[in-house]
Amino acid sequence: MTRYGQRFYRIPPRSTNSELTITLVERGILHDPNDRRFRIHLHSYMKKTIFILLAVSAFISTSHAQDTKPEAEPRFQITDAVITPIEIENPFTDKQSDGRLIFAGQPTEDELRAFAALGGTTVINARTQIEMDRLKFDEAELCKELGLVYAHIPVSSSKLTAAEPFALGLALDENPGPILMHCGSGSRVSTIYGLHLIQSNQMTVDQAMSHALKMGMSTGSVPYFQKALMETPQRTIASVDPARLIDNVHMLTSFGTRHTLSDTESDLRGIGAARRWVHGTFTEVIAGHGKPDEIAPFVTYDAHTVEPDGRRILEQTEIVNVVCTIPGSKPDATNRLYYVLAHLDSRATNANDSTSDAPGANDDASGVAALIELARVLSQESLDATIVLVATSGEEQGLYGAKLHAANLVATGADVRAVLNNDTIGDPTGVGDLDGSEVVRIFSEGLGLDLVNLDDPAQLKAALYKLRSTGSESDSPSRQLARYINFVGKLHGELPVKPKLVFRPDRYLRGGDHTPFNQLGFPAVRFCEVYENYDHQHQDIRVENETQYGDLATFVDAQYLAGVTKLNAAVLVHLANAPSAPTDTRIITADLTNDTTLRWTASPESDVVGYEVLWRETTDADWTKFKDVGNVTEATIELSKDNWLFAVRAYDKVGYRSPAAYPSSAKE
Ligand SMILES: [Zn+2]
Repeated sequence: MTRYGQRFYRIPPRSTNSELTITLVERGILHDPNDRRFRIHLHSYMKKTIFILLAVSAFISTSHAQDTKPEAEPRFQITDAVITPIEIENPFTDKQSDGRLIFAGQPTEDELRAFAALGGTTVINARTQIEMDRLKFDEAELCKELGLVYAHIPVSSSKLTAAEPFALGLALDENPGPILMHCGSGSRVSTIYGLHLIQSNQMTVDQAMSHALKMGMSTGSVPYFQKALMETPQRTIASVDPARLIDNVHMLTSFGTRHTLSDTESDLRGIGAARRWVHGTFTEVIAGHGKPDEIAPFVTYDAHTVEPDGRRILEQTEIVNVVCTIPGSKPDATNRLYYVLAHLDSRATNANDSTSDAPGANDDASGVAALIELARVLSQESLDATIVLVATSGEEQGLYGAKLHAANLVATGADVRAVLNNDTIGDPTGVGDLDGSEVVRIFSEGLGLDLVNLDDPAQLKAALYKLRSTGSESDSPSRQLARYINFVGKLHGELPVKPKLVFRPDRYLRGGDHTPFNQLGFPAVRFCEVYENYDHQHQDIRVENETQYGDLATFVDAQYLAGVTKLNAAVLVHLANAPSAPTDTRIITADLTNDTTLRWTASPESDVVGYEVLWRETTDADWTKFKDVGNVTEATIELSKDNWLFAVRAYDKVGYRSPAAYPSSAKE
């Protein structure tokens, strides 16, 4: 078999005549040289029919001498309506087959008929069945009628795995060209084609990505392309085990009560037994990590003596948090800390009742079980930055464990980049017919007034003035963290539980362990199920009027809890492996202009390869667009800073992206 250049052509789905381009790329095997002339693809568009002569077997090198690559420059004339190939000299004479691929958006019936009439053999469709059901004709039937091979490889970008590009590879191997490859716009099919080129060792990741972009992959699909190649998040998501989670919820409820002031001596009942069990279980699940001593995961107690407060601490009490640390393996990232919190303590109807049964299954054994599962799954991975999992105590008595721990972090200058508080994440049942099984609320504060001394009227006034004048009231670091969780949720279509952002710090009449972290200036959010059942929260166990009260393990749903834990795991992998967000990000307001110039200080990690500018309408809740601006520290976007909100994020070579850095304004 003689190898020549293989040619791929793409008709941009939204192009006008003058914008028509044909991209030629030399790759692979050139088949069926007899069919050397041209394939015609009719592409009708906006009531105008553009006849595109597509194709091409190329013009060919002067002979079919072995491995001679044909000349690279396309030999076409582009006229108003027709792309006409120029006559070719020395056409192929041998009989090797030809692999021509045409990348396109959804073809019409007429276009498919034209494709068949002109010698097309195969159609590969990457649209989902739901999309195909909306189409006015049955593409599979039509292809059958036209004698075309029809391969349907449904692709949803966020659920893309290795399977779809593999299936595409098989379809390409089995069918001679010309092959029409399409999805809705041409983007998805180009994405899986690029992944196929990597899988089949035809191109490096970088080559395949730029090739896929040339074939029609949209820039918005780049994160999906990269995510399909990321093994760590996929593996951690898949490793989370519902059975272990629910076993650990049951185990935690078996201590009777975990009230902060309950028994600490018994090995069977009370907060002491519970925290020793958590310590032991953390230690057990991180075993087998196989890491060198300097980055070995470890478990500690974080103990604080609290004096009576006349409210919920009635005697001197030891508040003991149990901490599992998974050090990062990248020297320039290991000091960055990503926290996950859940509270170990529980309560009965009376907040100061330290002896009655208080199983606290959902509130918050569910969160502690998630911590243990995260310790098990993440300790086996090599992540760039450090993960700290804290089972706090004293939450129900006034957030003591979290407050004291956070204060120590400030005192020691710890570099905490994000805090995920998981409190009440196990029961998706709603009120009446409502179903909350596919979402978890992410609460985040909007006003990041953490760096302002609230007791200093001048500072407070200046901070509020700035927020008010720039419209930055929904762009605190905590809110960027919430948006980041949303980004990861969308990127990973395989996640069974999706984030539902709630733009307030917490629920009415309620608070949580993220609050003291927020107050000390750390980005912190709360994960919480969507519908709460108050018969089960902070209630003595009893049956009244046939209603079961109390926070029992039977109300915790293993699959839902696993879903929320998987979301945490994916977010942590992305946060820990991504570079830091750029710092000193600012919009330049030196002059009145109708575009937007941003400047920032580069992120310090050695694996940063570039930055993206994000933007959204001022009325949008989340970032809607982004642009790759390369490895620079300044970029200008042709949109007015008066009409849009902007931010900047860094990315590394694998495609891990930092949270968004929201800019201040500056003259330079
Ligand atoms: Zn709670």
